[in-house]
Amino acid sequence: MIDHSTYITLYPNVIPVRGFSRSILMDLYLNRFLFIPNYLCDFLMENKTTDLQRKDFMKLGESEIDFAEIAGLLDHLMTTDYLTEVDLNLLEGLRVDLPFKSEDSLINDCIIELSESSDWDLNRFLSEIDRIGVKFLEIRFLDFESFQNFHSLIRFALQTHSIEFLHFLVPFNPELEDCIATELVNFHRLNQLTIYNAQSQFELGETAFQIIFSTQRSIDHSHCGCIDPSYFAYNVQSYYSSRKNNSCLSFKLSIDQFGEIKNCPSKKESFGNLSEIDLERTIQLDEFRKEWHITKESILICSDCEFRWMCSDCRVFIQDESNPLSKPAKCGYNPYINRWINEEGYRTETECGVSISDNQIRIDHEKLNQLNSQLWT
Ligand code: SF4
Ligand code: SF4
Repeated sequence: MIDHSTYITLYPNVIPVRGFSRSILMDLYLNRFLFIPNYLCDFLMENKTTDLQRKDFMKLGESEIDFAEIAGLLDHLMTTDYLTEVDLNLLEGLRVDLPFKSEDSLINDCIIELSESSDWDLNRFLSEIDRIGVKFLEIRFLDFESFQNFHSLIRFALQTHSIEFLHFLVPFNPELEDCIATELVNFHRLNQLTIYNAQSQFELGETAFQIIFSTQRSIDHSHCGCIDPSYFAYNVQSYYSSRKNNSCLSFKLSIDQFGEIKNCPSKKESFGNLSEIDLERTIQLDEFRKEWHITKESILICSDCEFRWMCSDCRVFIQDESNPLSKPAKCGYNPYINRWINEEGYRTETECGVSISDNQIRIDHEKLNQLNSQLWT
């Protein structure tokens, strides 16, 4: 007998993420998300391989009010294409894994700092990272002199190279306008040029790369590590990578202005100088990769946050420097009350009765429930 029943399921590109007090559906194709209540998230996760019909969802409710809420929620999730209602044949077709490309390079992201005192062999280094297969290269010119000294060498060295995205950060200087118009304009390997400490903007014609004028005065290390929703990423690649590895430090290499090899520019720890040691061997040391495996699942407080798989991480600026699994210090979100620092009613986790001892989160549920009912009713 033909089964004419319909079943409700998530699209394969929609991932439920449970937080402490609310959950989200992350759409990895359309780069968006929607908040849902925890009970629905739990139900979807627990029944991932079950053939669910509308009547199964309705069992989540106990009263007429609940039934109306669940029906409304299902309709909303279907009209917005997070859930879909299909027959049994189509249901099987929707249970597929998304195509995901594992990292195939020893290093993916590289950040180089250059100043007028940089005297290490930049040309040799650029050919080494080509061999390693680096895809994203950011070059931070700490002064205008270094930009004048090195930009021609870089343009020549990157004519044929593994990189797919190149970003320059250059301090503002009136001479830059002419240099962009005459020399950089045809530099097709360049994708983005950020001019920091910008005192004015240049009148430029069409360029092959994006130009950003920033009033930020310097690009020193203290500016890194900010957690902000505008940096959240919702795509297939970032989701699967951050589930496997640290979303900032894994497959990353940084070389400071003096040629010191680091995992990130803000790290104090150097693994040696480029002019003295073998780069390829260094980046394969367990010590160099020791934080690559730290995912948000193991970071205190973040592991309770509904944004954890779209948020980036920082292991340098952390709340408690003595604990490598501490939350990023520059995050102003409290997942226990779902408030950002600039929102009314925000309190720190400690003020909400959330504390950490022996690497475990302890919650004063009475205090937290009281606060949440004040905030949300
Ligand atoms: S670990 Fe922190 S400081 Fe280092 S690059 Fe990442 S965000 Fe920046
Ligand atoms: S608590 Fe902050 S840093 Fe941690 S996952 Fe949530 S938004 Fe990101």
